[in-house]
Amino acid sequence: MDEMTFDLVVVGSGTGLLAALTAAEEGLSVLVVEKSEHVGGSTALSGGGFWIPGNSVLREAGAVDSEERIRAYLRAVTKGEVDEERWGSHVTYGPAAVDLMRRRTPLRFSFMREYADYFPELPGGSPGGRAVEPAPFNAKALGADRALLKPPALKAPFPMPITSSGYKWLNLAARDLRGVRQGARGLGMGVGGMLVGREYVTLGQALVAGLLAGVRRMGISLWTRSPLKDLLVERGRVVGVVVSRDGVDTVVRVERGVILAAGGFERNAEMKHRYQSEHLDTAWTLGNEHNTGEVIEIAQAHGADLAFMNESWWFPALPIPGPMPGSLLAERSLPGSIMVNGAGRRFMNEAVNYMTAGQVILGLHKEDDPHIPAWLVFDQRFRNRYLFGGALMPRQALPKAWYDAGVAVKADTVPALAAAVGLPELPATVERFNLLARQGHDDDFGRGESAYDRYYGDPKVTPNPCLGVIDSGPFYAVKVVPGDLGTCGGIRADGFARALRADGSVIEGLYATGNAAGNAFGRVYPGPGATVGQGLSYGYVAAKHAAGTLG
Ligand SMILES: Cc1cc2nc3c(=O)[nH]c(=O)nc-3n(C[C@H](O)[C@H](O)[C@H](O)COP(=O)(O)OP(=O)(O)OC[C@H]3O[C@@H](n4cnc5c(N)ncnc54)[C@H](O)[C@@H]3O)c2cc1C
Repeated sequence: MDEMTFDLVVVGSGTGLLAALTAAEEGLSVLVVEKSEHVGGSTALSGGGFWIPGNSVLREAGAVDSEERIRAYLRAVTKGEVDEERWGSHVTYGPAAVDLMRRRTPLRFSFMREYADYFPELPGGSPGGRAVEPAPFNAKALGADRALLKPPALKAPFPMPITSSGYKWLNLAARDLRGVRQGARGLGMGVGGMLVGREYVTLGQALVAGLLAGVRRMGISLWTRSPLKDLLVERGRVVGVVVSRDGVDTVVRVERGVILAAGGFERNAEMKHRYQSEHLDTAWTLGNEHNTGEVIEIAQAHGADLAFMNESWWFPALPIPGPMPGSLLAERSLPGSIMVNGAGRRFMNEAVNYMTAGQVILGLHKEDDPHIPAWLVFDQRFRNRYLFGGALMPRQALPKAWYDAGVAVKADTVPALAAAVGLPELPATVERFNLLARQGHDDDFGRGESAYDRYYGDPKVTPNPCLGVIDSGPFYAVKVVPGDLGTCGGIRADGFARALRADGSVIEGLYATGNAAGNAFGRVYPGPGATVGQGLSYGYVAAKHAAGTLG
């Protein structure tokens, strides 16, 4: 077996890249090992936004905040399920992680103005938002490394870089000039860039491209196609890793530690069924196909305790044929749609954040009262106005494949739709919902009352941008399942991201960050970018701790 030594090994090349940058800035020799042939994992597939309150980008954009408010908010959302010692590090050190990224990578960032916290009405919550996203990044600047960047799940047919903030408006392009301008700006940048030899990428593609550029600048070693196989443990301390490098088992010893940043187990059906629910299907996840959870199990085999294994970053999805499910985000907030259960009854405020929506669907599902699948019901007016499922332009017909797969059903009247799908209560539900929509107030579930709901609403619809009647045929129903953006249960870690045993003792030399760790926020997604955000902040904390400059 080959053998070599580094100060620190980072396992996984998503948010783990920031841990590597941090350690390198501390003067440590660092090796990143990545299982797949690409760099970036789910982080590269993501929106790339991060929720790290109080950071310098937010301050420079004039977003007023205070540590007291941020802590009050996290105290309220975590409901005592996680110690402040654990989540408090995100508040204390997250802003420094952002500064390091600004210092050590070519990335630029902007404030996602008005993208509210997911519970903005709780104490300390922010309706104006605390999330930041990367500016478009020229991927050609990576040179030969461009080929390493994990490709996005859906490739646009023409170059049109759109940011998350831009998506909100693009979604409304058929309704609002700001959407048209957004599309034109994206197209101009994409095509214009191409003409001068640039390739602008956005979202998680931009974030990972920029982090990778930083990793190269700092001379950090990076091995792709090199999955972790085991940890080397001596006298209770992790002193190295065994990785399979191009099929050859290689021992890498470490002087300071190992950071496990290998993502979750969203692609492992057995683990999802064991820890979460037998009703779940791994085809419903939007996460990286290599996130199969073996790293969590390796840590467990060496004594690590696990936390929140029954939780994911749930995300209601369309189980359409193909490699990825369709995503449902603004579709649940925009006027003219409702979500119903197997009886055809509304059961929630459809516009709540996606993690809560998934928890509600899973929590209510029973054999004799099915909520999996739920159904999103809308009319032709809704279809004419907005994008749909992450793929369809306004007015574009739903693909035949969706009907053939039984994912979509269409009918001329609501009773006919109810009969075709088998949703007996649907006609009464739509009648009731239309009454609520006309009065502009959802007395049943409060849709549109939160600033979060309204972020993805239609500002042209008043008084409630999330409510609109469903009365313009034909009518549609599409299946909704509890998909996810990845799992968020994993290795139990403390405020320094150190892996813990069940008795609370620390496994020296072992750290867990991102989705390989138990969610620092418990069962909650506090705001847009909270998952990439904690991957970055705890990566920073772990690397600094391993370097001996923190804690
Ligand atoms: C479509 C989509 C949109 C999203 N949008 C957002 C957003 O805007 N903001 C946000 O905060 N979150 C978002 N998320 C969630 C977020 O992307 C993830 O939760 C986060 O990126 C996870 O980061 P990570 O570093 O833990 O894992 P990853 O980024 O998945 O990185 C883990 C890496 O480890 C590698 N790996 C796995 N096993 C091994 C092994 N045995 N050895 C070595 N390497 C291994 C994987 O191949 C992968 O490259 C989104 C997710 C998706 C899918």
